[in-house]
Amino acid sequence: MPEDGIKQLPHQEILTFDEIVDFAKKAVEQGIDKIRITGGEPLVRKGIVELIKMLNSIPGVKELVMTSNGILLSKYAKDLAEAGLQRVNISLDTLNPEKFKKVTRGGDINAVFEGIVAAKEAGLNPVKLNCVISKSSKEPDAQEVAQFAKENGLQIRFIHQMDLKTGDFKVVEGGDGGDCANCNRLRLTANGQLKPCLFSDLGYDVRKLGTDKALELSLKNKPQTGKHNFSGDFYNIGG
Ligand code: SF4
Repeated sequence: MPEDGIKQLPHQEILTFDEIVDFAKKAVEQGIDKIRITGGEPLVRKGIVELIKMLNSIPGVKELVMTSNGILLSKYAKDLAEAGLQRVNISLDTLNPEKFKKVTRGGDINAVFEGIVAAKEAGLNPVKLNCVISKSSKEPDAQEVAQFAKENGLQIRFIHQMDLKTGDFKVVEGGDGGDCANCNRLRLTANGQLKPCLFSDLGYDVRKLGTDKALELSLKNKPQTGKHNFSGDFYNIGG
């Protein structure tokens, strides 16, 4: 999140659960079978367990997973698993409580540790850690997180720090993000912009265009490779 805060969206601009589920159903009809709920932070959305339940009831959804900062996970892990969530990725860039607090603007690393335990106990396995690195996975913080992952039976993915405006991104180590030649992702933002690529300003409004048209245009215009994105930020597009 930006240091100086964000301009909050009015409630009526945010997609309702019914709209999200309607979109997901149409996406599944087009051959999409994996849904990842991300953010911002998805666990701050009121009724998130209900949304997972609704998405899980769509025939054809093979994978239903989430990326979270882990802070609220100890509260929700069990209910999310029962609602049909299969796995969770948790962001963790350092094991140092002070650095963590600074990077997350006030987050308590112990809440994340509790969230990881809760996720494992709830069966959201394999629990994966998303570790952002500035230059290399050999950096001390990254190595400590890797050791922590090893000791706790977690998988780890190293994500190079990205810059949307300059188009600076690399393939995720241990994951499949950032690989344009094989990328088949679409992103739907909280306010209904369907984005065919993270590093592009393209976006199709599912409310204005209708879901079918937005899907058609996103699939047709998915860029061969990402370039840059001047119109969005990670907190409102998702990583
Ligand atoms: S096509 Fe876009 S979203 Fe996909 S990996 Fe490349 S930059 Fe990322």
